[in-house]
Amino acid sequence: MINGIMIIVIIGAQWGDEGKGKVVDLLADRFDIVARYQGGHNAGHSVYVGEKAFVLRLLPSGIIHEDKTCVLGNGMVIDPKAFFEEIDQMQNQGISVTPKRLKVSSRAHLIMPYHRALDHTSEERLGNEKIGTTLRGIGPAYEDKAGRRGIRVSDALSPEVLRIRIERNLEEANRIIVLYGQPPLYADQIFNEIFPLVERLRPFVAETSHFFAEAKKQNKKILLEGAQATLLDVDHGTYPYVTSSNPTAGGASVGTGIPPHHITGVLGIVRTYLTRVGEGPFPTEMLDEEEDMANLIRQRGNEYGSVTKRPRRCGWFDAVATRYAAELNGFNSLALTKLDVLDALEEIKVCVGYEIDGKKIETFPAVSQDLQKIKPIYETLEGWKSETLGITKAEDLPAKAREYVEFLSNSVGVEIGLISTGPERDQTIILPDSVMESWFKN
Ligand code: GDP
Repeated sequence: MINGIMIIVIIGAQWGDEGKGKVVDLLADRFDIVARYQGGHNAGHSVYVGEKAFVLRLLPSGIIHEDKTCVLGNGMVIDPKAFFEEIDQMQNQGISVTPKRLKVSSRAHLIMPYHRALDHTSEERLGNEKIGTTLRGIGPAYEDKAGRRGIRVSDALSPEVLRIRIERNLEEANRIIVLYGQPPLYADQIFNEIFPLVERLRPFVAETSHFFAEAKKQNKKILLEGAQATLLDVDHGTYPYVTSSNPTAGGASVGTGIPPHHITGVLGIVRTYLTRVGEGPFPTEMLDEEEDMANLIRQRGNEYGSVTKRPRRCGWFDAVATRYAAELNGFNSLALTKLDVLDALEEIKVCVGYEIDGKKIETFPAVSQDLQKIKPIYETLEGWKSETLGITKAEDLPAKAREYVEFLSNSVGVEIGLISTGPERDQTIILPDSVMESWFKN
């Protein structure tokens, strides 16, 4: 809290699926506004509240708390069909989602049906080098944004503008779609599909950067929720195996219109091991003789995509990559999730350094091909081999588990302020006197 302002960004420190959903949901109680600033309906947070399971793809996790206002910031790309599917699903689960508590930036871009078609053709074109996208049209929508052809929410509110933009963009898109043997799309059809959705979207549309500015004047607390994660950032991640936007802390400012110096804290989410969905380098991946370990972790941690159900690639905690994430985001505190998943392990490996061709390297390589050649340097810690599921106090953890947490924190150089010991809200330890605790107290 600085001069009464509290704006915290929460970011996955690894390759995503760190369990951000649970931590955001826990913290959301302390905030008035929860916003997303990048990405689209590819997020896939799972949040469990009592008996109910919510899967959130596009909406911020705060939507589950009916006294919170949620915002989809200007940095996002929004598929109007997916937007209303998710709202309808929330309503069916008893959560009321009205324009009063959900604001969509007029400057956010729309994902159009031709973006989905283009996503398929682009992955097909890359063949073996495909990125492994979720094929929801998110990448092509960001390409149009950067190419200054995109359709913003505010453009679509005018039927004339929407129609002209669709016609113009489709001419080009169809050339590529047809080249890859797909049937062409028709402007009339797209307009007739999209415009009624835009009409339904109209009451949700707002000047969200102004909304944030007003909220700050009233000392409202704002939580900015990153989707995907640091190592998938289009600038800082393992390019080209990345997402099309900036999940890192700087992206939170650009994607909401909140000035960078108004952001008062950055929280990183890390998991006791790593996973990765899709293609791309993964130095600590458990392969070959570690296949059994990967299966055990996948099973215990339920590591299957919450949107795509794809099995996730599993690997050991990588302190080099996480240190890189800490430098980029300036984490004030870390939340460590899924401690309980490691309860069964005899030994736990942590990657503390990288080597390429026998040479130690200090920084996280920019080139994905180099990352593929990395030989991780591991330290092996003894497992605690007892149940931590549901523990709520640090002193109740087995000594070896406490040592493990301390080892991770020291090797990354950032405090671990929260330990998650299970999927439920109350299966959580908040460490006394941590920065994290101060966020929870406010
Ligand atoms: P996110 O997108 O980063 O929220 O990741 P996911 O939606 O893939 O969430 C990870 C999964 O792990 C969800 O099913 C969570 O309920 C679950 N989860 C989160 N924290 C913990 C934990 O500490 N222990 C266990 N066993 N599961 C957890």
